[in-house]
Amino acid sequence: MVGKLIDKVAIVTGASSGIGEATALALASVGATVVIAARRSDRLQDLKARITGTGGKVLSITADVSDEAQVEALVNQTHAKFGRVDILINNAGVMLLSLIDGADTEDWRRMINLNVLGLMYATHKVLPLMKAQGAGHIVNISSVAGRVANAGSGVYNASKWAVGAFSEVLRKEVYQNNIRVTIIEPGLVATELPQHITDSSAKEQAKNFYGSVKNLESEDIANAIVYAVTQPSHVNVNEILIRPTEQE
Ligand code: NDP
Repeated sequence: MVGKLIDKVAIVTGASSGIGEATALALASVGATVVIAARRSDRLQDLKARITGTGGKVLSITADVSDEAQVEALVNQTHAKFGRVDILINNAGVMLLSLIDGADTEDWRRMINLNVLGLMYATHKVLPLMKAQGAGHIVNISSVAGRVANAGSGVYNASKWAVGAFSEVLRKEVYQNNIRVTIIEPGLVATELPQHITDSSAKEQAKNFYGSVKNLESEDIANAIVYAVTQPSHVNVNEILIRPTEQE
């Protein structure tokens, strides 16, 4: 395997489907050793076989990223096996849309615990390693929903706004350690994300919204991530906002 990321080790959370899966494949295709994490181990095993089949190096770790101890184990296992963590793709997320009034507050906990705290835990665990290495790159997957708030998306918007604020503070705190921070803000991407919405009316609305435009593909976002992490070390791509052409 040859490529721009040869000798680099990248952790991708939420790699069992959608954007995370496409990103793991794309990073492996440019030479990175990828550590793929999510809860569905059968899907991770399938992805692992595909990456290995093309000559890529991969470690699969089943982990619930909303659980701090499991995130710590993910980072520790990566470091124990490969001796470094160069890139962290904080991608795992859920979008459990509903109106604020009458919402199932368990949906709120799932979004905050994963989209916000999970991303923060993973960042917290890799920072000492990246500082010791003298370099690193953290890519946080936010959303257009991290920039534009809409009725029916209150807590998902809040979770992605939190990702934006956290990422900007992180950048200011670690740029002198040669650690780069990128935030990726996709519009509508054809993945299983909206299928997990528990509120039936919000799920129907999301289905119609996704169906109203030609969606981005997960590979479109993976390409943007590969662009960001393969720039020369003096280039810090801070933010990429990427919508389908047909999306308002
Ligand atoms: P998917 O539902 O296809 O992927 C979500 C991933 O997160 C899956 O791999 C899932 O794996 C994982 N995940 C969910 N819960 C957990 C958990 N508790 N612990 C570990 N992993 C978990 O959706 P996308 O690929 O679309 O979403 C990826 C990211 O992109 C999310 O952060 C989302 O907010 C963001 N995004 C998506 C957009 C879209 O239109 N699709 C638009 C803008 C942003 P498993 O269930 O196996 O754990």
